[in-house]
Amino acid sequence: MVLSELGNKISSALAVMNNTTIVNEETINQLLKEIGNALSLADVQMSLIIQMRKNIMAKIKLDQLAAGLNKRKLIKRVVYEELIKLVDPGVPAWKPTKGKPNVIMFVGLQGAGKTTSVTKLAYFYKRKGWSTALICADTFRAGAFIQLQQNATKAKIPFYGSEDEKDPVAVAKKGVDIFKKEGAEIIIVDTSGRHKQDAELFAEMKQVEQAVKPDNVIFVMDSSIGQAAYDQATAFKSSVGVGSVIITKMDGHSKGGGALSAVAATKCPIIFIGTGEHIPDLDLFNAEGFISKLLG
Ligand code: GDP
Repeated sequence: MVLSELGNKISSALAVMNNTTIVNEETINQLLKEIGNALSLADVQMSLIIQMRKNIMAKIKLDQLAAGLNKRKLIKRVVYEELIKLVDPGVPAWKPTKGKPNVIMFVGLQGAGKTTSVTKLAYFYKRKGWSTALICADTFRAGAFIQLQQNATKAKIPFYGSEDEKDPVAVAKKGVDIFKKEGAEIIIVDTSGRHKQDAELFAEMKQVEQAVKPDNVIFVMDSSIGQAAYDQATAFKSSVGVGSVIITKMDGHSKGGGALSAVAATKCPIIFIGTGEHIPDLDLFNAEGFISKLLG
């Protein structure tokens, strides 16, 4: 189920509850059943749905509610709060500091949208007045250098990479040194991806991390992988110091809910979502705003 349908289903379940004459245990059970079914169809992990249901039940104790209290309003508020919790790990996201070099390293599997997202992020900060720079440390995939060079040129962002140097650690280190000397405030390192979470990829990521000492490591993940997001995010998080997450391809027919909730469950704050193939298609992620929009 795509996200807009998920929002419609939850909104209509809430509307049904709102219009019933008497709000009792049965009304709430029915409401939670419908919300649970909708979340499940949107790929949200069953364990998270069960936990959410428990939390809602614990907050709405009908027999203990004061007389005259607007039950419908309370139920709606509690559902809303718990939906937010589902996509918000409650951990503050890292933020760059003005006037100093902030090194950001991107990691993720091949095809997740790393190279597209590094340019999007650099462009996001450039528009806000930060001096930004991009480094291609993906020496594994043929074409990565050209792709990032072209994107950087299009976005008018300084770029460093090498078509001859095959050592990603050397390229990353050299690029970071150059841009630090030039006074760049946001220095973004794109690293290589592989099709699988193999040992070689993780070893390379660790070496690059040690060499450039990033202030933040951003893990990029494709939203369409749904529930598998939890294991993938956990694997990356345990290898390098992942500080935040960008979930890509939230446009089109993405289910999204599965990835957003699974990643939040790993306690990795989602900072942006990718909403298209073009450079400006990057939205700041805010759990409350996201859920409000979802419910219309
Ligand atoms: P990488 O291997 O992780 O560096 O992945 P790329 O950045 O090369 O992206 C893989 C494909 O996904 C490309 O065709 C991108 O245009 C596409 N892509 C990346 N982010 C998004 C997004 O947010 N929405 C859509 N629709 N496509 C995206």
